[in-house]
Amino acid sequence: MTRVFNFSAGPAVLPEEVLKQAAEEMLDWHGSGMSVMEMSHRGKEFTSIIEQAEADLRELMSVPDGYHVLFMQGGGLGENAIVPLNLLGKNNKADFVVTGSWSEKSIKEAQRYGDIKAAANARDASAAQGKFTKVPAFADWQVRSDAAYLHYCGNETIDGVEFFDVPDMAALGAPDVPLVVDMSSHILSRPMDISKYGLAFGGAQKNIGPAGLTVVIVRDDLLEQAQAVCPSAFSYKLVAENKSMYNTPPTYSIYIANLVFQWLKRQGGVAAMEKQNVAKSELLYSTLDASEFYVTHVEKAHRSRMNVPFFLRDESLNDAFLAGAKERGLLQLKGHKSVGGMRASLYNAMSLAGVQALSGYLKDFEKSHG
Ligand SMILES: *Cc1c(COP(=O)(O)O)cnc(C)c1O
Repeated sequence: MTRVFNFSAGPAVLPEEVLKQAAEEMLDWHGSGMSVMEMSHRGKEFTSIIEQAEADLRELMSVPDGYHVLFMQGGGLGENAIVPLNLLGKNNKADFVVTGSWSEKSIKEAQRYGDIKAAANARDASAAQGKFTKVPAFADWQVRSDAAYLHYCGNETIDGVEFFDVPDMAALGAPDVPLVVDMSSHILSRPMDISKYGLAFGGAQKNIGPAGLTVVIVRDDLLEQAQAVCPSAFSYKLVAENKSMYNTPPTYSIYIANLVFQWLKRQGGVAAMEKQNVAKSELLYSTLDASEFYVTHVEKAHRSRMNVPFFLRDESLNDAFLAGAKERGLLQLKGHKSVGGMRASLYNAMSLAGVQALSGYLKDFEKSHG
């Protein structure tokens, strides 16, 4: 068996220990005589799995009292509709900050459901490469003080732009506007203060587990302002009242997510992850910065630790670069089709050894082609 270094943006690398444990438990989970995939979601076995998953996630993320943790389906793009359907019942108004491809998708989808405005937009349409390279200064955000919420994307997976600070809504003249954050690609990568948000969501397939599961953390008071047309299966209130069992949840994905949560706890939790993620991303960015052969565009203060887009100055070498990487077992480095170039995703389950191998390859490829 050979395992590669998998730099995919998602679905992405999972800890080997977790995959082995899942393999061992595949046919007979804890003496039940069944695979988790075959269990009733309402039986005592699966109930213990989902309860443990919620407890572990609450512990890892220090989720305060007064928030529900929901295990849903629909992915990040599903939430682009599910959030407005659940929150716009208040007065139909929401504001968005556009810092990359994902928040741009979010604002477009929300416009189908209400009166939606961009509080700030970082797009530089004139740039040939690197259309999104920064977070606009908080002081320049124009937030309506009566908006039902303000949405932003904490880590732009495609463009490589990450928020390291949480905006202070009082300073923006909108103290009562809850923050909604798309955490899909950096959830659990470092400590985050959930009490600063009204709602945080993330698809699992980036930094948690398999596709099919979406985690939603929502403040209790926000369960009460859904639009009348909100589908029942996507109503936060109904899902919360039914402990994520209003309809059948993605049982196997929740089981794997829980194995990942337990793995994270064994590693020392999100504080330990942050240390590793800083070390990995610093190694990669410093390798790229030291060279004229490679180009990055994102401003240093907003460079993502999870997703590192970069370009070869001579793009005619792209295919040779990817072929050489594959020979060394460094896979899925091709950039998103909308931005081109390369992208290395360094989620929690990517080891420092993987980033060291990539850094070595970057240097060697430059030596032989520079
Ligand atoms: C991947 C991703 C999404 C979309 O997730 P799906 O599960 O494919 O719908 C949304 N937002 C961010 C930040 C992402 O990285």
